[in-house]
Amino acid sequence: MRRLRPFALACALCALAAVWLTAQAPAPPKPLEVVRLSANLHVLIDPEDNGNVAVYVTPEGVVLIDAKFERHVPQVLDAVARITPRPVRYLLSTHHHDDHTGGNAALRARTGARILGHASAARLMRERNMPGPPEVTFHDRMSLHLGGRAIEAYHFGPAHTAGDAVYFLPAENAVHVGDLVELAGPYIDHKAGGSGARFAQAVEEVFTLNAATWIPGHGKPLTPETGKLFLADLKTALARAQAMRTQGVKKEDAMAQWNNEGLRYCCRTNIWKRSLAGLWDEPAR
Ligand SMILES: [Zn+2]
Repeated sequence: MRRLRPFALACALCALAAVWLTAQAPAPPKPLEVVRLSANLHVLIDPEDNGNVAVYVTPEGVVLIDAKFERHVPQVLDAVARITPRPVRYLLSTHHHDDHTGGNAALRARTGARILGHASAARLMRERNMPGPPEVTFHDRMSLHLGGRAIEAYHFGPAHTAGDAVYFLPAENAVHVGDLVELAGPYIDHKAGGSGARFAQAVEEVFTLNAATWIPGHGKPLTPETGKLFLADLKTALARAQAMRTQGVKKEDAMAQWNNEGLRYCCRTNIWKRSLAGLWDEPAR
């Protein structure tokens, strides 16, 4: 066998190290799907189903709703730049979960955007040492005005978390509902103050806005008709859980005894099963 000279040996080791590093490096995020809802409103959806980002363009700048994870921030800003040359002025958070806020701090650092969200979402992020908590907060409702456009922020009570915010864009007749409506869910994050008892009521409040387009926290934009089907299934599922509890089923047995029959628009998945036991610990209704 031919002896490798030191230089050749070093090169061979470099090549091996490069292969090893390539194997260790996390795969880059997959390309975002850009869904155009109107000239001024787009939704950035990724195939790995992390939180949807709404891009709202006003004459004085861009408002983003949610931020995905930090690793998505370059992609999000590239997508915004392809839509408009205007600067990002505000970032609105629908709740504290990191698939919606993980990019908050990086987006603020790169754009100078101000971050707005519900007071409880800001508190939860601070308590959990999550980067980029909202610096402008509200409790029940608030209006933001930019470039002659209004964005109305609402909190319809605890549901997915204690800090859920819904953002209505009157000029677009569209609403970002965050994870209040998630066809694969819903997940009730009891540790973050979520509530099964209040969940359906919070979704009902969304209908009072009369928005024609609902942007969910995950997945494609929805019509209010699909929202109605989601709400009906949600009520059925919550009543089913309540009946099991009343009949004395122990929370440890709830998952095994859970019945998905007739549920098509929510509550079928593991996400729902993660929330079932927590319903047993909520005050009896
Ligand atoms: Zn969430």
